[in-house]
Amino acid sequence: MKQLLFIAILFASINSLSAQDKPVEFTTFQLSDTVYMLKGRGGNVGISTGEDGLYIIDDQLRPITSQLLQAIRKVSNKPIRFVINTHYHADHVGGNEALGETGTVVIAHDNIRKRMTTEQVSIFRQETTPPYPKGALPILTFNDRMSLHLNGETATAYYVANGHTDGDSIIHFPVSNVIHMGDMFFNGLYPYVDLDAGGSMQGLIEAADLALSMADETTRIIPGHGPLGMTEDLKNYRDYLVEASTNVQELIDKAMNLEQIIAAKPTSQWDEELGKTWITPAQFVTFIYNSLEGINYYTPVKKAETE
Ligand SMILES: [Zn+2]
Repeated sequence: MKQLLFIAILFASINSLSAQDKPVEFTTFQLSDTVYMLKGRGGNVGISTGEDGLYIIDDQLRPITSQLLQAIRKVSNKPIRFVINTHYHADHVGGNEALGETGTVVIAHDNIRKRMTTEQVSIFRQETTPPYPKGALPILTFNDRMSLHLNGETATAYYVANGHTDGDSIIHFPVSNVIHMGDMFFNGLYPYVDLDAGGSMQGLIEAADLALSMADETTRIIPGHGPLGMTEDLKNYRDYLVEASTNVQELIDKAMNLEQIIAAKPTSQWDEELGKTWITPAQFVTFIYNSLEGINYYTPVKKAETE
């Protein structure tokens, strides 16, 4: 069954980057003397600028790179020395190649480079992504954690295994009191757990716990998607992920299957607020169910069951 699905998906392969080069509206938020958040199209970007230069966290979608660079230049005109990729998805690594050509060093977890050098098949997104060209690949990779000692603070990227994917890092700026969560945190909408790329709900909860252990009540939390958050928002996120997982586990314990559990609406208390923007309640429940059952790929939900 799984093999058949894979074949179907290969034929349905689409280019997710088309029609993305329309003008983008960028918004910049200054979070400390040196750290900014930039919203555009794709994952939220973190910027550190100061006496030692400029570096960024994630670089959005490939077709909008020149627009992104213009927006960054409004914060600082200095060359971009480094980009840290939080994970391998196209809306977080799209600027790598163009930045690399200008001398920016791309840094990422080992598994990001592994995924970017091989064809990726996503059952959830129904697409196949070919390997990236050499120029887009991270050239400096790390295993567990990595620190940059620039602009008056030691910013550290912490790898958290098997959360949104199998290659996600969160980046802590201790002096600025900012944490960039990448797609380990979706603020105001249900998170996407990329089961097809090693993601799991348990890993998302671990990432939130790690960030909360480093945060105080005034910490600014940059989510991968959604508006800038505070510690309170991350805590609420962590709590509903745990509670939703408990609700689904209780139904698994009653020997219900995925279809029955989706129909029982175990996340109904959050669905109105969080399940309308992108990830549907049925998809969210599937992420939890498959994570709890150790099913390491997405299982499509029939149309009739999604609403
Ligand atoms: Zn992502």
